[in-house]
Amino acid sequence: MNYFEIQKQLISEANQHKVLVEREVDNNLNIAMQDKAFKKLFVEIKDKKRELAKLSNNTKESRDLEKSILSIRKKMIENLKEKNISIQSIIPKYWCRICKDSGVVGQDVCKCISARVTNYLRNSDNNPLNMPTFKNADLSIFENKEFITKVFDTAKQFIEKMNTTKYNNFTIIGSVGAGKTYLMKCMANHALDLGKSVIDLSSFRLNQLFLDYYTSSIRDKNSIIDPVLNCDLLCIDDLGCEQLLNNVTIPTLTMVINERNALNKKTIITTNLSLDEIRERYDYRLCSRLIDKNVSITVNIENKDLRQK
Ligand SMILES: [Zn+2]
Repeated sequence: MNYFEIQKQLISEANQHKVLVEREVDNNLNIAMQDKAFKKLFVEIKDKKRELAKLSNNTKESRDLEKSILSIRKKMIENLKEKNISIQSIIPKYWCRICKDSGVVGQDVCKCISARVTNYLRNSDNNPLNMPTFKNADLSIFENKEFITKVFDTAKQFIEKMNTTKYNNFTIIGSVGAGKTYLMKCMANHALDLGKSVIDLSSFRLNQLFLDYYTSSIRDKNSIIDPVLNCDLLCIDDLGCEQLLNNVTIPTLTMVINERNALNKKTIITTNLSLDEIRERYDYRLCSRLIDKNVSITVNIENKDLRQK
C-alpha cells in the first residue's frame, strides 16, 4: 500500500470508531433523557454553551456564564449518579479531540491521521522507511566525515524547510554503496515525522507504474499517477537503473518532475549517473531542472562501497 492508500484506510477506521462511540453515547443519553429533570439540565447547558460561543473570551459576562455552566454540570453529574450512569458515558471517547475521528479538519487531513500513517509505516514488516533517521544516522561509516556531516545537515534543512524553500529537487549522486539510499531514507523518515505524505519508489517500480499509466484507460490514469504527483515528498531511488521504455519512461518522468516543480512539491533522486550522463540519457528539460541551481540541490557523495564494510 502506498502512503495515500494507508491514509484512506486509517481515515475509514477512525470514521468507524466515530460511529461506534457516538452510538454508545446516544444510547446512554436516551436512557438519561427519560428523566425530565435531566433533560431540562441538558437543554439548559446546551443553550448556555451556544451563548458562550458568541461571547469574546475573558469578559465578565463570559466568566459568569462559565460559572453557571459548571454549576449545571455538577447538578447533571449528581442526577446521573442517582441512575448509576457516569458522566463519562455520555461523552464520546474519540481517538482525536481535534477532528472527532472524522480524520479531516476543514480541507486538510488531521494531524492524528498523518501521525498514524507514519506509525503504520514504521511498524510494518517490509517497511523501507523503518531504518535510518537523522537522529540515529551513523556517519562514522563514511570516509570524509566532515564533508558528509555538511551534506546531512543540508539534507535535514531541506526537509525542515519543505514548506518554504525555493528548492524543489534534491539529487544525490554517488557510486554504488556510497550511502545515497541511506541519506534518502533519513530524509524520508524525517518528512514522515513532520507529518508529510511520502512515496518511496525504486526507479524500476516507478517505471512499471509509468507503464501502467501509459497502458491504462483514461478513466484509470489519474488514480495511478495522482499519488506520485501529489505526495509532499517523492523519493526515486537509483535513477538510471530502469529500462528506458519508448514514449513512456522519459516523457512521463519529465511530466512528473515538471508538474511537481510547478506545485512546489519536493522530490529526492538518487543515482549512479553523473550530471553529464543524466543529460545524455534523459530529456534536456528534465536535466535542466535537475541542474538548475535555482530549483535543485545536487550533492555528490563519493565513498568506498559501504556495503563491504
Ligand atoms: Zn484528528
